[in-house]
This record gives sequence, structure tokens and C-alpha cells, in this order.
Amino acid sequence: AKELGRDRVVVFNDAMQLRASARLDIESQLGRALDRDELRVVYQPIVDVANERVMGFEALVRWEHPDRGWLSPAEFIPVAEETGMILLIGEWVLGEALAQLQRWRREVPGAAELSMAVNLSTRQLRDTQFVQVVAETLDRTGIDPGAVHLEVTESMVMGDVDLAVRNLVSLRALGVRLSIDDFGTGYSSLGYLQKLPVHLLKIDRSFIDGLGGDDPHAAAIVGAIVALARDLNLGVIGEGVESAAQLAELHRLGTAQGQGFLWSTPLRPTDVPGWLREHNEQLV
Ligand code: C2E
Ligand code: CA
Ligand code: CA
Ligand code: CA
Repeated sequence: AKELGRDRVVVFNDAMQLRASARLDIESQLGRALDRDELRVVYQPIVDVANERVMGFEALVRWEHPDRGWLSPAEFIPVAEETGMILLIGEWVLGEALAQLQRWRREVPGAAELSMAVNLSTRQLRDTQFVQVVAETLDRTGIDPGAVHLEVTESMVMGDVDLAVRNLVSLRALGVRLSIDDFGTGYSSLGYLQKLPVHLLKIDRSFIDGLGGDDPHAAAIVGAIVALARDLNLGVIGEGVESAAQLAELHRLGTAQGQGFLWSTPLRPTDVPGWLREHNEQLV
């Protein structure tokens, strides 16, 4: 038993060692990823639930790692958040997404009114320079601020609520729109919602999952969020829509917009103009 115990310890240590060194690899390589032009942004359409017209896109970051292929944000955003690298990465994603949107708005038929949603991180929301970064990016790209949606989660606001709210108020003063991402999954009380100067709620995928199936609670929760949003004068987006049945339920419950694999997975920017053309052709 003692032998086994010792073996276990060794195995455990090896696994931990491996995890720690994988993390160190990510950490050191992520520092160079920006300079080496290894980060990519992909774009997922957001549509009007009533008529399926495209309203805009959400920018989602990827890392095209030279050895490991395309890495999802889950594999490197937490590390970037811990080291503070997220500030540079986030600034780059914002610049990239808004420059891309400006090109599409000018060059792609039917894209002139599209919006762009960009995810923020806790660090960005607490950074004293961040509002300035957004203002400069708007200037540089010439994008109408109203076309920019910045997404924050409830948990990002917790901690120093006052600082976060101050920054959100300044961002709102620039004319950008603010969304609460993954709505319904945070630890916050609804009281926070009143304090937050936001325009949109994005209903978390976990609630959409149960729609159109045999889960009566899912429809009740989505319906309650829609009613709350209506009272507070906020827009609502359902996230992670995968089936026509879920779309029908969202429509019935009064959700204005939807996003999910039913329409498209996140697209490489070169695929967006073609996807838009085909999608719009199917509508008429
Ligand atoms: P999120 O902001 O909630 O983004 C939605 C995630 O759901 C995306 O995953 C998207 O690919 C996925 N998704 C969309 N529709 C469906 C669907 O119908 N079914 C399913 N199963 N999944 C769907 P992704 O791209 O892996 O991003 C994961 C998270 O990483 C994002 O969650 C966001 O929190 C974070 N993230 C992504 N890009 C950035 C970024 O540029 N900055 C920061 N700070 N975080 C980012
Ligand atoms: Ca998001
Ligand atoms: Ca989300
Ligand atoms: Ca999320």
C-alpha cells in the first residue's frame, strides 16, 4: 500500500509538472504570438429572430499556433488574463474587428449597417487607459460608435463595482453599446442590473439549450429574462441557437436577436462576404 501510495504521488507530480510546463509554454509563446502574427479573429453572425436578417457579427479570437494548430480562447485567454497580456491582445482584437467591419461596411453589399460585438476581459474593464484605447480605435477606424457592442459578464463587474461602472459610463458616453454576456449565469443579484449602464442582454446558451425540447423550465426562464429586459428597456439576444425549434421558441417568447450554429459557426473573415451573399439570397 505504501508502494502504491508513493507511485501515486509520483504520477500526480508528473501530471502536475506537465500541466505547469504546458502553461509556461503557452505563457512564453503567447508573448510572441502577437509579434509573430499568430492571432486570428473569426466572426459569428447575429440575426434578427423575426426575419433572420443579419444584424452584425461577434468577433472571437483564435490562436493559430505553429505546432498545435488552432487554439480556442479557453486555452489561452485565462493565461493572458493572469499575466496582463490580455490588455495588448484585447486592444489588438478590437482594432482588428473594427477595421474589418469598416472594410465590410464599405465594400460588401448589404453590410453598410452591420454592427460588431467585441468581448472585453476583467483587466480591460479595470484599466484606466481602456476608454482612451476605445476612443482612439474608433477614431482610427472611422467606425460609427453606435455600431460597436462591447460585451462584459456580470462576474467581470463584481469586485470593484464602482470602478467598473465608472468605465462603463465613460464607454457609453463615447456612444458605444454595452452588452451583458452569458446573462443568467453570474453570481450577481438583479440589483446590479439597475446600476449597470447597459443596452443589451445576451441570454446564456445553457438556457437556450433547453428550448424547443422537453424542458419546461427553460422557456419560463427565457420568458422571464425577456420580460425583465422589456421593463428595463434593454435588447435581448439568445446565444447558442442550434435548431429551428429553438428559433421558433425564441420568436414566440419575444427575443429580438439570435446567434448560433443554426446560422453559422464563427467564420474566417475571407468567408464572410460569400456567406452574407448566400444567406441574403435565401431570405428573398
Ligand atoms: P462567448 O463570448 O460566450 O462566445 C460564444 C461562444 O459560444 C463562442 O466560443 C462560440 O463559438 C460559441 N458558440 C456560438 N454559437 C454556438 C452554438 O450554437 N452552439 C455551441 N455549442 N457553441 C456556440 P469561443 O469562440 O470558443 O469563445 C469562448 C469564449 O472565449 C467566449 O465566450 C468569450 O468569453 C471568450 N473570448 C472569445 N474571444 C475573446 C476575446 O477577443 N477577448 C476576450 N476577453 N474573450 C474572448
Ligand atoms: Ca461574447
Ligand atoms: Ca456568451
Ligand atoms: Ca463567455
